[in-house]
Amino acid sequence: MDDRNTPSLGVIGGSGLYDFAELTEVERKRVETPFGDPSDEIVVGTLSGRRVAFLPRHGRGHRILPGELDFRANVHALKQLGVVQLVSIGAVGSLREEIAPGHLVVPDQFFDRSFNRVSTFFGDGVVAHVQFGEPTCAGLAAAVAAAAETTGAPVHRGGTYVCMQGPHFSTRAESNFYRSIGGSVIGMTALQEAKLAREAEMCFASLALSTDYDCWHESEAEVDAAAILRVLHENADRARATVAAVAASLPGGDCACRHALEGAIVTDRATIPEATRRRLSLVAGKYL
Ligand SMILES: [Zn+2]
Repeated sequence: MDDRNTPSLGVIGGSGLYDFAELTEVERKRVETPFGDPSDEIVVGTLSGRRVAFLPRHGRGHRILPGELDFRANVHALKQLGVVQLVSIGAVGSLREEIAPGHLVVPDQFFDRSFNRVSTFFGDGVVAHVQFGEPTCAGLAAAVAAAAETTGAPVHRGGTYVCMQGPHFSTRAESNFYRSIGGSVIGMTALQEAKLAREAEMCFASLALSTDYDCWHESEAEVDAAAILRVLHENADRARATVAAVAASLPGGDCACRHALEGAIVTDRATIPEATRRRLSLVAGKYL
């Protein structure tokens, strides 16, 4: 695979975004990883003159719950294809009056309210602690926000994405609590992808598509899945337009994200089991 054919931009699409008809010269790739199988085949195609790898997070047909996702396999599979910049797209509920349904948000912080999710490539004899104070890539996030603005939809730059476990939506008490701690939007998936992208030394940005006001908003009908699905389909068009614009305007050059594991692995290299070394060869081989 020469550089021109390598999909350096990866996109994980969420609820409502299962396919990408705008891609041309499409190849469908079934990728096996040392961490299991990704959610579906990865579609590699050309968009705005650039090779892009697209993975529907929940699988085509929306078959996989947020808590059932193999986040490691998904991120690792994209890295195997050569992805170095990852955009995670997902539907969210809004925790703020000013973020109306149909608005786009590019969060710069996360708050974890999920549990029992494997969100590290390490373990089994190797310990690594990556920096995560700034969980998204400023350069890629700025490019995504600028691209989102070309769709004409209102775009909110920055904000805190509360990552909940699901699959149920919040109770009103929870929703009000997330507002009280400064949450901007609430979703179920982006945080694990951000953590794993950091470990995989990828630049990462999230594009959150507001579908509803969660349940805190007294004047809104309670969140129901059918209403959300209607907005989801409108938002999917905006998401595809954003990705096409970002593919045309990606920041080039090096970035601190590509060196995230430097100094992060604390384990004595002499003690690392051979099987773990093999499993981590793509993510961390050069540091082991
Ligand atoms: Zn970066």
